[in-house]
Amino acid sequence: MTTNIAESFNRVLKGVRSLPLCAIIDLTFYRTAEYFRDSGNQAEECTTRFAPRVHKLLDARRAKAQHHRTRIFDRRNNEFEVLCKRRYASAYSAGDTVQQCIVGPTEAKCTCNKPKLEHIPCSHVLAACKDLGGNDGGHYVSWFYTTEALRNTWRPKMHSYAVGSSHKTIEGPNWAPYPATKTIEGIAHRGSSTM
Ligand SMILES: [Zn+2]
Repeated sequence: MTTNIAESFNRVLKGVRSLPLCAIIDLTFYRTAEYFRDSGNQAEECTTRFAPRVHKLLDARRAKAQHHRTRIFDRRNNEFEVLCKRRYASAYSAGDTVQQCIVGPTEAKCTCNKPKLEHIPCSHVLAACKDLGGNDGGHYVSWFYTTEALRNTWRPKMHSYAVGSSHKTIEGPNWAPYPATKTIEGIAHRGSSTM
């Protein structure tokens, strides 16, 4: 699934650009409605706590956390040092790296900064959570990644605007697109230069 909204919407508008203006408006509206319907149906079928993509990411990070070594530094603040082998560290790292995590009751911090930037715990925090026991790290994931938030995204109501019932007939010549601008199988025909 594409996560870039512009790319997703380009897919919705595929083949629309070469049409007359009214048809572009019509098709854009109906395809957007279909896009919301299909994405909303997928979200309604979700039975997990978080959106599927977030679950996939958490599973991958939990698997990576298995290879980290944790050492508790300060029991009172749940401050950890997490040793990451080179293979599982950042691609820019030349060797093993050490990250420092603080696993609080409502917030987790890590020197890799991923929890702060993504609002999803990194593999280092998940390794520390595993060490603590009884903490799967799920409550450090932002509410915006929950299935409920995903459903709310696709819930806005869309009403039919009854195309064709209120427009007036326009008298005059029929305008057709210039033949050289017609597309063949979705690819714009550029024509050959005569110069
Ligand atoms: Zn981290």
